[in-house]
Amino acid sequence: MKRTIGKDLRQRIEAVSVLIMDVDGVMTDGKIIIDDLGNETKHFNARDGHGIKLLMRAGIEVFFLTGRKSKVVEHRAHELGVRDVYQGSKNKGESLDRIFNEKGLSSGSVAYMGDDIVDIPVFRKVGVSVAVADASEEVIKLADYVTEKKGGDGAVREVCEMILKVQGRWESVVSRYEIDTLSGHEVS
Ligand SMILES: [Mg+2]
Repeated sequence: MKRTIGKDLRQRIEAVSVLIMDVDGVMTDGKIIIDDLGNETKHFNARDGHGIKLLMRAGIEVFFLTGRKSKVVEHRAHELGVRDVYQGSKNKGESLDRIFNEKGLSSGSVAYMGDDIVDIPVFRKVGVSVAVADASEEVIKLADYVTEKKGGDGAVREVCEMILKVQGRWESVVSRYEIDTLSGHEVS
């Protein structure tokens, strides 16, 4: 599995300042639950959510880019403080070009996480491409890094930690949570 970070990949991860991720199959296990009224439900992972918050707190921006359109994604993004949500993308490669223009981003500053063949055009345009453990075979083949965890089961958290560790920022992020022995209170 591609979890070894060689010198070249390490340098590319160090240059990352934006993490863009697909939603279904990455933030979730890919299941889409629709009730009789057409209301959509997805299962998100709380630790993934916390990983995203830690990443953003360290100054790395997080965007969602998904081919589907649903209110539940807006709610989840709002809850996490993710402001840039691109839904209903018919062609993710083109959507990414628009995001690059709109935000003035260079490809080398972006990491992208995906799970399916619609994510392949994006993989070719970013500095670091990440596939979840249960991604399509073609996607895994092309990825720079393949997570140990599956989509919706901690893959996002794994990547958030990996980026922060490679960039040497993990220790300071975690230190906020260490118990202050004088006061006995956890640092919020
Ligand atoms: Mg997907």
